[in-house]
Amino acid sequence: MNVLVINCGSSSLKYQLIDSESEKVLAKGLCERIGIEGSCITHTPEGGEKTTTESPMPTHTEAVKLVIEKLTDEKVGVIGSLSEIGAVGHRVVHGGEKFAEAVVIDDAVIKAIEECNDLAPLHNPANLIGIHSCQELMPGVPMVAVFDTAFHQTMPKKAYLYGIPYEYYEKYKIRRYGFHGTSHDYVSKRAAEILGKKREDLKIIVCHLGNGTSISAVDHGKCVDTSMGLTPLEGLIMGTRSGDLDPAIVSFLAAKEGLDAAGVIDVLNKKSGVLGLSGGVSSDFRDVGAAADSGNDVAATALDAYAYRVAKYIGSYAAGMNGVDVIAFTAGVGENDFKVRAMVSSYLGYLGAAIDDEKNKIRGEETELSTADSRVKLLLVPTNEELAIARETVRLV
Ligand code: AMP
Repeated sequence: MNVLVINCGSSSLKYQLIDSESEKVLAKGLCERIGIEGSCITHTPEGGEKTTTESPMPTHTEAVKLVIEKLTDEKVGVIGSLSEIGAVGHRVVHGGEKFAEAVVIDDAVIKAIEECNDLAPLHNPANLIGIHSCQELMPGVPMVAVFDTAFHQTMPKKAYLYGIPYEYYEKYKIRRYGFHGTSHDYVSKRAAEILGKKREDLKIIVCHLGNGTSISAVDHGKCVDTSMGLTPLEGLIMGTRSGDLDPAIVSFLAAKEGLDAAGVIDVLNKKSGVLGLSGGVSSDFRDVGAAADSGNDVAATALDAYAYRVAKYIGSYAAGMNGVDVIAFTAGVGENDFKVRAMVSSYLGYLGAAIDDEKNKIRGEETELSTADSRVKLLLVPTNEELAIARETVRLV
């Protein structure tokens, strides 16, 4: 069956058409600037050239229409007609406490996703627009929602509650939810497979180090803790996000800079992380690394702070699980940046974890990075959220 995987943002739509039997990506692409001037679609068929076409997309419905046109196009298409799409898998960011796993989409599911909009006001409405557009243009095709938060729903209360009055959890559902769940689930499963073991027999820490960064503790197959919280702002230092800080900084900074709370949160989301810490060099680790290599001390300190925070989280999750068997690195930085992996690993000697510097030179391929006598396995496991969404979709339809 061919599964169309859709990941809708407020002004963008990413897609992949995956053949579920061979698990091959038949085509992939991106619609950008939806609803604004200059919208365009970039489409790449398997083994073919990437093409970018400008085309007006006032709404996501026109974007989905264009995706279908590209997929069925005589020249750049990969299927004969719409009837060759067997199902659609939608990435949905926030499933709140309502969804602990992926579900087939019906009216009740749409209503329940709407009820989570409050928790992800930038993401969930865009995800819903993508669902509605696909339903309009592909009536009768089964659709599945795969939630970023679902994998983390197994966390115990002690891990997901904040130290604030309990009534706020009861009234407003303020708690840790966690994100990147599809990636943490996929990578922890794959890590066990690579080692020829069952995930249910292992204590795994997954380090999803990308532009957004999160870590999770997967204890015998279940997520027991994760670094992102009510929103994706908590936890590690990221590309542009601050991660953890003293909450009193919000009012302190608001008073000093003449901002309101939303203004400070905007700074913490968009101008912080390695971008802010490096004095504005970049949110991209390649640029920050290059600046550090050429003697920029502030950029070097930003990377030090980043790696130190990752190491601290690994330590806390090893403590929480009373040990760790496997630490897996994934996402843009985790898969490609051997220096960051080496910096993080330099803190792990107390766990008996040792990285092999030669093996660690690898980029983007499944690899065991640890030395033969390392007590903890260090792995590079490229994530594949689209494939995980396609698999869930097939499983459910
Ligand atoms: P992601 O959010 O997983 O797509 O990761 C994107 C981030 O990965 C980029 O912002 C870069 O900082 C980082 N990245 C990608 N390739 C490399 C590389 N070769 N070396 C270092 N960092 C990289």
